[in-house]
Amino acid sequence: EDITVDVAVIGAGGAGLSAAVQATDLGAKVVVLEKMAMVGGNTIRAAGGLNAAGTTLQAAKGGKAAQDSVEVMYYDTMKGGHWLNDPALVRTLAEKSASSVEWLLALGGDLRDVGLMAGATFPRTHRPTGGALVGPEVIRTLYTAAKTRNIDIRTNTKAEELITDKSGRVTGVKVKGKDGTYTVTAKAVVNAAGGFGANNELVSKYVPKLKGFATTNHPGATGEAIEMAQDIGAQVTQMEQIQTHPTVVPKVGEMITEAVRGNGAILINKDGKRFFNELDTRDAVSAAILKQKDGIAYLFFDSDMQKSLKATNGYIKQPYCLTGATLDEIAQKMGVDAATLKSTMDAWKAGKAAGKDQFERADMPRNLDKGPFYAIAVTPAVHHTMGGLKIDSKTQVYNVKGQVIPGLFAAGEITGGVHGGNRLGGNAQADIVTFGRIAGQQAFIFAKQVD
Ligand code: ADP
Repeated sequence: EDITVDVAVIGAGGAGLSAAVQATDLGAKVVVLEKMAMVGGNTIRAAGGLNAAGTTLQAAKGGKAAQDSVEVMYYDTMKGGHWLNDPALVRTLAEKSASSVEWLLALGGDLRDVGLMAGATFPRTHRPTGGALVGPEVIRTLYTAAKTRNIDIRTNTKAEELITDKSGRVTGVKVKGKDGTYTVTAKAVVNAAGGFGANNELVSKYVPKLKGFATTNHPGATGEAIEMAQDIGAQVTQMEQIQTHPTVVPKVGEMITEAVRGNGAILINKDGKRFFNELDTRDAVSAAILKQKDGIAYLFFDSDMQKSLKATNGYIKQPYCLTGATLDEIAQKMGVDAATLKSTMDAWKAGKAAGKDQFERADMPRNLDKGPFYAIAVTPAVHHTMGGLKIDSKTQVYNVKGQVIPGLFAAGEITGGVHGGNRLGGNAQADIVTFGRIAGQQAFIFAKQVD
């Protein structure tokens, strides 16, 4: 049945729910359209944290955290993104990040732990206390807020087409729900449908060498809402900027942190052999793994390395982590020839002793000869699509002629320019909450002007 609202939000991830809660609090009648059976999108999979500078929590923590500032967050984000980011968007991100945290806290979220993540000069990653993951907490907070406000969230409801009037203004969305197709008439639309990392056809269209890559993304990250906006003339930017991760557990989709290799783990293929410099760049290591049998390799480490890295405490408890008291036992579990594995490890040790690795790995911190031994099968995977719809700091979407498309706003992973050529850990959460809120505010203002 057709409905009429002030603001229609496409996507119930972090960006869409932030926009919906914000627009509702300003007085808008909102509907959220979510094609999947559940809310959360990629957001709910986020493990790191939410980056924000100048928060009361950083001040309370003191020390280096208290030295952080908007300027340093801006600098870190631009530098991390190889200066390809849209400076105005990054400025907005950094300036509003603290209020994004305060807003989530006010909604009952727990982001009280402050930590340091790669690429940040000072500790600015806000995350739940007690080691809980950030994504589920952000979604829980926003979803609870949405429910408390009686926001109409429609799951299993896919946005299929944006409706425009003769002037080019967006006036609604055609959707497909459980019981068929209907029209949502809206004074403003917020497109917060996320990225396209789970759509390998689209990914490899923009970056051919990513063909066949697995993904850490949820199955709904297929990007048709980008194309839907392009159908009404929207401009896309930096679509070829796609972040991959070389070591992801196949099917499970969990990323194994790079620090595992940094602290000494090696990669062993299904023939029981090393094949590449594990510390080469992400691209190169990914390509090398894909050339191995079944496109996978084992991250292999011993108990010395395990004890050196807290992050591995969680991994070794998982069913995907193979354990063997001896090289024979781990070889058997890996399904590789024990004699081959032993000679691989002998060659590794000899190379380390000689200070010259056969694959020219520069840093060989450990002998890797203390049982128990561990092996985790990994494969490279697409992690985050950094390009997307071209927006400005008000989340207005631009057309290919460089003009604003009236009535259309976008926020979150569906947009391009915030992260440039490389997204820093913790910046996706900052992005979706900050720009999601702005989209909610701007959509409300636009809707009032239409009235
Ligand atoms: P962000 O981090 O930007 O909020 P997420 O991936 O967390 O992005 O959330 C985006 C949400 O949008 C997902 O839940 C996804 O299923 C949903 N989505 C994607 N395409 C559509 C569509 N065409 N119609 C409705 N919802 C969609």
